[in-house]
Amino acid sequence: MSRSVRTRPEGSGRALHEAYDTALLDLDGVVYAGGNAIAHAVDSLAAARDGGMRLAYVTNNALRTPDAVAAHLTELGIPTGAEDVITSAQAVARLIAEQLPSGARVLVIGGEGLRVALRERGLEPVESAEEDPAAVVQGFGGPELPWGRFAEACYAIARGVPWYASNTDLTIPGARGIAPGNGAAVEVVRIATGAEPQVAGKPLPPMHRETILRTGARRPLVVGDRLDTDIEGAFNGEVDSLLVLTGVTDGAQLLAAPPQHRPTYVDADLRGLLTGQPDVTGDAEGGFGCGGWTAKAGGERLELGGDGTALDGLRALCAAAWTAGGERGCALDSGKALARLGW
Ligand SMILES: [Mg+2]
Repeated sequence: MSRSVRTRPEGSGRALHEAYDTALLDLDGVVYAGGNAIAHAVDSLAAARDGGMRLAYVTNNALRTPDAVAAHLTELGIPTGAEDVITSAQAVARLIAEQLPSGARVLVIGGEGLRVALRERGLEPVESAEEDPAAVVQGFGGPELPWGRFAEACYAIARGVPWYASNTDLTIPGARGIAPGNGAAVEVVRIATGAEPQVAGKPLPPMHRETILRTGARRPLVVGDRLDTDIEGAFNGEVDSLLVLTGVTDGAQLLAAPPQHRPTYVDADLRGLLTGQPDVTGDAEGGFGCGGWTAKAGGERLELGGDGTALDGLRALCAAAWTAGGERGCALDSGKALARLGW
């Protein structure tokens, strides 16, 4: 795959689970939401696996261990081993281990997932700046993380100890709303110290490298719901991606996406793994076609004509918007066109 600017979703004559050897799946908004499996996820993943596709689950959440994530997925009806789960805790632990001697002490501001990942890399988790740490690592600590932990991080960083963060997602969606994520906690320490952490998680290269090293994937397909983590991570890793619309991304955001946020394929949910993908045809002048639709940039807005499935209409609109946007996000009004598709 080249890094030229993507201007339309690609077609695939083969089912995606046959065209790619490994799916690198995001969890929240893709496989489950609020603890429950997303519609069609369990059956689609079982069918993709039966068809020979390796399934791996890639999460920026550093709190839970791979064992805990695998147990949760298995309980939802998706049989998963700990070796099928890759976390940002593992990616940041490898990053630290590459830069520090074996056995180095690392001050942990976070949860059990981080401690397990550090020990796996031969590093020693410690709890206080007084224990002479050689690094500070910060990962999501959950609602019970005491404020005093941030003070420990600041004391060590002020002495020049290098600082690492598993990920910088600002928010975590939960059943009661949007809660602060590890990125918000990282900001607390950044404001207090003026220091900059080295970050491992999606969309940055250490996380993608971790998933490739652990899965051995030769032709991976990143599957995600978020443009600025999952899809940008695939772009940075120069691999193909499938955006599913079961999570945080809506049609308007997809149409306005700058090049690094444009997925290779778009589908409604994980059933997209089991099918091919339709070609988007045409050009800016005559309009872009997919299914029975034609999409064009006209004046200040995107125009959509014809008929067919909502998804094909969205794919045609992607081509019109991404072509008009070029190396930037498309600023044309998509409201009326998306309303025709029920978005
Ligand atoms: Mg997600």
